[in-house]
Amino acid sequence: MKEKIKTIAFDADDTLWVNEPFYREAEKKLCNMLSDYMPAEQVMEELYKTEMQDLEWYGYGVKAFVLSMIDTAIRISNNTLPAATVQDIMNLGRDMLQKPIELLPHVEETLEQLNGNYRLVVATKGDLLDQERKLKKSGLERYFHHIEIMSDKTLAEYTKLLHHLDCSADNFLMIGNSMRSDIVPVLELGAYAAHIPYHMTWAHEQLPYTPQHERFLELECISDILKHLL
Ligand SMILES: [Mg+2]
Repeated sequence: MKEKIKTIAFDADDTLWVNEPFYREAEKKLCNMLSDYMPAEQVMEELYKTEMQDLEWYGYGVKAFVLSMIDTAIRISNNTLPAATVQDIMNLGRDMLQKPIELLPHVEETLEQLNGNYRLVVATKGDLLDQERKLKKSGLERYFHHIEIMSDKTLAEYTKLLHHLDCSADNFLMIGNSMRSDIVPVLELGAYAAHIPYHMTWAHEQLPYTPQHERFLELECISDILKHLL
């Protein structure tokens, strides 16, 4: 594997830095705001339903999440939601966009060691502006040769990315926390994929099984990849 890999792509959210806990925190606050209408458990179910319906229209990221929260709240309240609550929900989104970046353990030292030996790339979903801002704030920008903000992480999108990078699947490794987005399509493409589980993963990104594949690696921590590559 070491001899083959030339380009390594990293997922960003919950691979390089903390992300999902901020969504859960906002979700909890939404449940509190809507507790007069519905128990928390049900609010979360309704929100997930809305998110799944909205995905193809709004894509991923905080903006889409805010729209889904508002849509859910209006529905749950039977169109009686006060405008002030809509404002509160929008503020949840603004707070999320302003969170400081918390790098995950060993991220910077791993990039530092790989830099120079491999071409490093970021491949992430989410809002363009938000992801660009997060990358700048993270201080990690200088390690990356290319930043790709993808509308979705499907086989077709990865094919486009590899074409753009002029890289064959044989020379490509993707590292990320989401089985559905970072691993499965990449293995399908014939490339290498390394999974680093994060303790909190959105239901949509999970898989009910672990892929069995000769080009699949399961890691505990991002720095574990060094054993395979250096
Ligand atoms: Mg991720």
